[in-house]
Amino acid sequence: MKHSIKYSLIKKDNKTAARRGVISTPHGEIQTPVFMPVGTAATVKAMRPEQVEDLGAEIILSNTYHLYLRPGHELIREAGGLHKFMNWNKPILTDSGGFQVFSLKGLRKITDEGVMFQSHIDGSRHELTPEKVIEIQTALGSDIMMAFDECPPYPADKSYVEQSLNTTIAWLKRCKKAHHNTEKQALFGIMQGGMHYDLRKRSAEAIVELDLPGYSIGGLSVGEPKELMLEVLDYCVDFLPADKPRYVMGVGTPDYIFEGVERGVDMFDCVLPTRVARNGQAMTSEGPLNLKNKRFERDFSPLDHKCDCYTCRNYSRAYIRHLVKSNEIFGSMLLSNHNLAFLVNMMKGIRKSIEEDRFTEFKRDFYESYYGNESGNKL
Ligand SMILES: [Zn+2]
Repeated sequence: MKHSIKYSLIKKDNKTAARRGVISTPHGEIQTPVFMPVGTAATVKAMRPEQVEDLGAEIILSNTYHLYLRPGHELIREAGGLHKFMNWNKPILTDSGGFQVFSLKGLRKITDEGVMFQSHIDGSRHELTPEKVIEIQTALGSDIMMAFDECPPYPADKSYVEQSLNTTIAWLKRCKKAHHNTEKQALFGIMQGGMHYDLRKRSAEAIVELDLPGYSIGGLSVGEPKELMLEVLDYCVDFLPADKPRYVMGVGTPDYIFEGVERGVDMFDCVLPTRVARNGQAMTSEGPLNLKNKRFERDFSPLDHKCDCYTCRNYSRAYIRHLVKSNEIFGSMLLSNHNLAFLVNMMKGIRKSIEEDRFTEFKRDFYESYYGNESGNKL
């Protein structure tokens, strides 16, 4: 089957499963491995789209649940689609809303048909079904849309995870059936199965059989220990076809990105860089810095001497600390810009290191510099 996006492998690392590739989409190419900034409500918080583009981001993620509730997908369709509505002309990936709906503890009811839930905004009642989720994402016009799935919590009984997986597999088939705009939009399937190898295998076989343009590994980084997450990830990646992009959802701290890349994952997203920015935290080549700390009061050096982003070229730690302490919006803007630049540049470094067969060395050096140790674990 011909898909609207295509993954091409450029180079494989000679020591690990890390791979350098490119995904072509109707809105341009994406160099992989890639980090996707999150624009939940059709905006990467505190950033103009031109800034996001200037710092080198090639794709952003937006959230179906939020846009469906506000302003509504019909309104966005009327506006000419999400790209036009938010003035972002590069690729967009939208999630399915499943994760948000299932996070609404107490406000929801799951049936085979879908999920009934109450809006977190005004308490109004809604139902999301696989067909509805595809209808919404079709109206948004995202380049990559995600299937409707349930992400079981950790820990969870195996019987629950199995039942949930059966529903997720049935929903994926319904999503595929409801998806008609295949020339412009690609539907990714999501692997679930919790921490159980047999369920992961079943899930992988069920999604790969559908010949989708890309696959995601879901249900990780939901509270399990890091070692377990990496073991399960190791097991999962091997099932996914080499000629399709692989995406691990909601995983975006530097250590998890490096570990994912090392195992052959191509796509990552996380709200972390912009969220911590709004709390006064900078991600730098020497590790995270909390600008609220008094030691930065008279520090007139840039956030990160290795960074050449707009923030680091023009402003000092002392100035940004002052903005953060005064609750000035500009502080969030400058920190968001830098943190996104930091992750985008980290991905550039990762891609170059794979091209030059020195990914392992690059990872070790990054960990030593960022975490102060070789393991990438916070001390
Ligand atoms: Zn910077």
